[in-house]
Order: sequence, then structure tokens, then C-alpha cells
Amino acid sequence: MERIMNAEKEIKPIFEKIEEMELQNTRKVLEAFQENQLSEMHFSSTTGYGYNDIGRDTIEKIYARVFKCEDALVRSQFISGTHALTVTLFALLRPGDTLLSISGTPYDTLHEVIGIKENKSSLKSFGVHYEEIDLKENDFDYDQIAETLKNKKIKVIEIQRSKGYSTRKSLSLDKVAKVISLIKKISPQTIIMVDNCYCEFVSGKEPTEVGADIVVGSLIKNLGGGIAPNGAYAVGRKDLIELVAERLTVPGEGKEVGPSLGMNKSILQGLYLAPSVVASSLKVAVLTAKVLENMGYLVEPRAEEERVDIVQNIIFHDADKLIRYVQGVQKGSPVDSHVLALPWDMPGYDNQVIMASGSFTQGSSIEFSCDGPIREPYIAYQQGSLTYSYGKLGLLKAIQNLDCNDEKNMI
Ligand SMILES: *Cc1c(COP(=O)(O)O)cnc(C)c1O
Repeated sequence: MERIMNAEKEIKPIFEKIEEMELQNTRKVLEAFQENQLSEMHFSSTTGYGYNDIGRDTIEKIYARVFKCEDALVRSQFISGTHALTVTLFALLRPGDTLLSISGTPYDTLHEVIGIKENKSSLKSFGVHYEEIDLKENDFDYDQIAETLKNKKIKVIEIQRSKGYSTRKSLSLDKVAKVISLIKKISPQTIIMVDNCYCEFVSGKEPTEVGADIVVGSLIKNLGGGIAPNGAYAVGRKDLIELVAERLTVPGEGKEVGPSLGMNKSILQGLYLAPSVVASSLKVAVLTAKVLENMGYLVEPRAEEERVDIVQNIIFHDADKLIRYVQGVQKGSPVDSHVLALPWDMPGYDNQVIMASGSFTQGSSIEFSCDGPIREPYIAYQQGSLTYSYGKLGLLKAIQNLDCNDEKNMI
């Protein structure tokens, strides 16, 4: 505990900045609730087709207000962030169109969706072309992007802000704003889609405020606040949200259908808590960085660095240490703390992955959780914590497990 207390003293000024951001985003949410006159009747629910679901419709107005954009689709019928991204891509692209990723290879679970990895239901199988431009020194390759847009018709550009299972840095809103203004200048008709997973409420602005046409994220990450039991969102231009809604449900029915099945109150309460839960997650991430850094490990981002998302990397360069740390996180969790986490072949991922997620909601990574692919350089990706104290105690278990060399946890 002493190592944690010492680190805490060093990072006090960073916590104050996180609290300022928490207040700013709390105000944003509160104003959205008030402007839309949120009432008890909105906690009601529909079944069956889900016509006239005033709670669901109000949630979508509130999301549009929070993101300062025209429209939103917030649904439990999206089974994950990947599903929302998939539905969005299939909604926007037609045979012969080109999708361009400008943040390198997208998140692992999108490989079969796009057709980077063979799949008979991929976008590629429908005749959608795909190209990508790698990042350059942790920033966009502005020259290459400009060159490509001048020479080719690009229908959709994808920007992934959080690093996913890569070793790059996550992309700040300033960089996203800069690249969007470049794209709009050269090719105003290109649709810019942002994968916003893990980035919501980390800064004071969202990508829709700097020109992104459509933004997508998961409700079992930041904006669900640990309360939403599943679901995802897409927000942005009204004409694009309509296309996404018609792909999720039915052409001609779109947003009008989709029962909320008792989830409206949870989605609202989750959004209500999200600014505070994101702040707790950030504090745990900064604390983790400082403690592990003091113990001599390589961390990314460093404790003092400005943050773009809630993910903290620890680069172990050692498979045993990675496994030991992740197992420690599991031991420090509220649910399944007695279960030993082991590497497994997870669907949608190329390498074996070890995951600690002793969470109330399955796979929820806004709750204290940690995972890592078993490959060089053996990085732990830790994120979330519904409160600061739970994360602190979880971290304590993780570093104790890391120190504990005689324990035979290995496979
Ligand atoms: C989590 C995540 C996704 C979506 O993952 P799901 O587990 O399907 O919700 C997509 N992109 C990034 C960068 C992510 O972190």
C-alpha cells in the first residue's frame, strides 16, 4: 500500500485537472436532461415492435444534445461497439465504393467485417474496396491523405481514436480536428466516421464538434457509466443516422421501431454517472502509470501525459509478467475473484488473449478490467473502474501478484 500512497502524492495536480473535466462534462449531461425535460414517464418501456417509445426517443435527443449534433441512434439492438461500427459501415457503403482508414489497421474485430481477413459476409464480399494509410510518428500522415483524396474517390474515411491492441498512441481531438479540416477542404463529400470507443468524456469536446459526420461507440464502455447492460450508439448527421437506423432495423421503418425492453432508465442513469465514472477510470489509469513507472516498468501513456482515452498500457516485454499482472487484476475484482484468468483463443482476435473482467456486466470494460494479447511486446491494456477506491484496491492486488514469484499460476 505504501507504493500506492507515495505515487498518489505525486499525481495530485493531475487529479485536479481530471475533476475540472468531470465538472464540465457533468454540466453537459445535466443540461441535456433539463433541456429535454426528462421525466419519470421516460423510464417506461415498450415491447414487440417498439412503436412510440418516448423514453427511447428522448434518450436519442439527449445524446444528440451531448454530442452537439443533429441526431442519434442509441439502441440495445446494437449488441456491441463492433456491431454498431459494422452496421454503420454497411449502411454508408455500396458496391464499388472505397473505405479508407487513416489511422492504420482498424481494431481487430473489424478485420473480418471489412475483409482484411477473409470472411464470406465481409464488406469486400459485397464489392466494397478498402485502403489504409498508416500513422506517421503517432500523428496522421497528412501528405499521404491529401494525395490519396486528390487522386481517388473515397466514400467513407474511418478514424479510430483509441489505439486498440496496437502499440501506437491514441489520437487527440486536436489531431482529429486538424485532419478533418484537411479532408473537408479537398473532398467535402467524403463521409468521416470516427470510432470513439474509450474516448467519450475524457476531454471537453467530442468529434462531432470538430466536423466528424458520424461517431460510434459502445455502451459497455464510457457512456454506459457501468449501468447500461448492453448497447451502443451512433451520433451525427441526420441523413446518415437515418441510413444506419434503416440498416439496423428495416428500410422504411428506421428509428420508428426497436423496443427498449425496460432499458431506458439504465441507459439514462448510466449517462448521468458517465462523467464521474470516466473521471474515476482516468484517476486509476494515472495511478497505475505512476506506481508501475516507480517500480521500473515501461508505461504508455506516462502518468503526466495528456490523455485521450481511459486505457493504460504497461509494456512488460515478458509473457509471464503480463499473465501474472492480468491474473492479479482478476483477483482484485468484485465478481469471479476466485477464478484464474488464462489465455484463450477469442473469436475475432488473431492471437491468444488473456482477459481479466470480474465485472457485473459481461465484458464491460468501463469496469476495472485488463487484457492483453499474448504476443510481443506483451502489453497489458488496463481500463475502467466505477469508483476510484475499487480501482486502487484492484491495482494493489495486481502489483502484489506481479511481485509474487513463487506462486504457480502459470500454465
Ligand atoms: C472496444 C473497441 C471497439 C468495439 O469493441 P466491442 O467489444 O465490440 O464493443 C472498437 N474499437 C475500439 C478502438 C475499441 O476499443
